[in-house]
Amino acid sequence: MSTLIVPLLLAAAAPLAPPPATQSATSAKPSATRLKADVATMVDFGTRHTASTTTDPKRGIGAARTWAARRFTEIGASCGGCITVDRISRRFTGPRAPTGVVVEDVLGIQKGRDPNRVVIVGAHIDSRVTDVMNATSDAPGANDNASGVALVLEAARLLSQRQFDATIVYAVFSGEEQGLWGAELLADTAKARGWQVSAMLNNDIVGNTVGQGGVRVADKVRVFSEGIRTSEDMVAQQGRRAEGGEDDGPSRALAKAIDGIAGGIPGGLDVMIDRRPDRFGRGGDHEPFLKLGYPAVRFSVAAENWDRQHQDLRTEKGVVYGDTIEGMDFPYLAKVTAINVATIAQIAAAPAAPEDVSIAGALSRDTTVKWTVVPGAARYRVRWRRDDSQGWTDVRDVTDTQTVLVQVPVDDTFVGVSALSTDGAESLVSFGGRERRR
Ligand SMILES: [Zn+2]
Repeated sequence: MSTLIVPLLLAAAAPLAPPPATQSATSAKPSATRLKADVATMVDFGTRHTASTTTDPKRGIGAARTWAARRFTEIGASCGGCITVDRISRRFTGPRAPTGVVVEDVLGIQKGRDPNRVVIVGAHIDSRVTDVMNATSDAPGANDNASGVALVLEAARLLSQRQFDATIVYAVFSGEEQGLWGAELLADTAKARGWQVSAMLNNDIVGNTVGQGGVRVADKVRVFSEGIRTSEDMVAQQGRRAEGGEDDGPSRALAKAIDGIAGGIPGGLDVMIDRRPDRFGRGGDHEPFLKLGYPAVRFSVAAENWDRQHQDLRTEKGVVYGDTIEGMDFPYLAKVTAINVATIAQIAAAPAAPEDVSIAGALSRDTTVKWTVVPGAARYRVRWRRDDSQGWTDVRDVTDTQTVLVQVPVDDTFVGVSALSTDGAESLVSFGGRERRR
């Protein structure tokens, strides 16, 4: 049935979208106790520096990676083998590893109905102290970043109870502190294997609420997303300039989706949509994915504590330095985990996001929106807003692949389209620009 023409009244007073049907489907809650146990186990490896020992069964990065692989195997065993373990590696050389080091990622792969479309949730397991080259001193890395790895494992435990349309890749990276190498390895692997990446969630430093100077922020989490796309060259950026989509690229659309999903979790956290790729002047494991054009964001706590990051374990003038488990807040980490789980559940249950969304309507009072068919989509959700605002305000569900927004002037309106599954799981919103000539 075509919904090309709708009454003017409906278009003007379109209701807000209902919450996605998938939110309640993953009702099991993350366990703060389990998260703490996993962080404690990781701390017990002494150091997880990327250049630390790979042969000692109890200490170093090798033992830590083997443990992570075993955890994925255990989780997979309780869902009938729904998660398989894949260990990928490559040798990297750089200023922080001049003689080279083999970087290995441990992946748990939960195959969906579509083996090629993937949602990735990742965190780096390597740790460091003050000197980034020091591979032997104790580097507990409880918050940076055993917190993120524990979140990834807990997400796997919860999400493995369900089958999804997309394949979920749970990723434990190495080499982050030496140059984001593990993430680069997985991004390259995604491209080489032809994966269609619907979202990449990087979790790095996600488990403390007491920040520098004692400030406590326990009700917020930051989600960093890029505006201008690093994957596009200057010509492509200039082309996009005319459309005004700086706040609506795939990474920003993912951050906005997360904000909306988090808002539906009772007792959860307020998402701060940080409108820059990462913290000021710093980077993280989502960036190699952004370089390849995949939608990617970074989760991080609202109040960082630099006395507890990248520090030799010591006490100076009464100040305790070092990334130990005492500085963490596990109920908070469980809340960040819940947001990740709900986000993955929604995006993995939804179809892929529409491609080639275009709008037209110059010299008209109406806006025509078109897009290409998304395999498996039951219907599409057209979202729009005045172009002096940042969040979608209006919505219309249609089954066709075009619609006309009557009395909605193209000059003053931003438009996006998402794809929905039969049970209402919504993809990311693809921003509408000028029609691309192919
Ligand atoms: Zn980190």
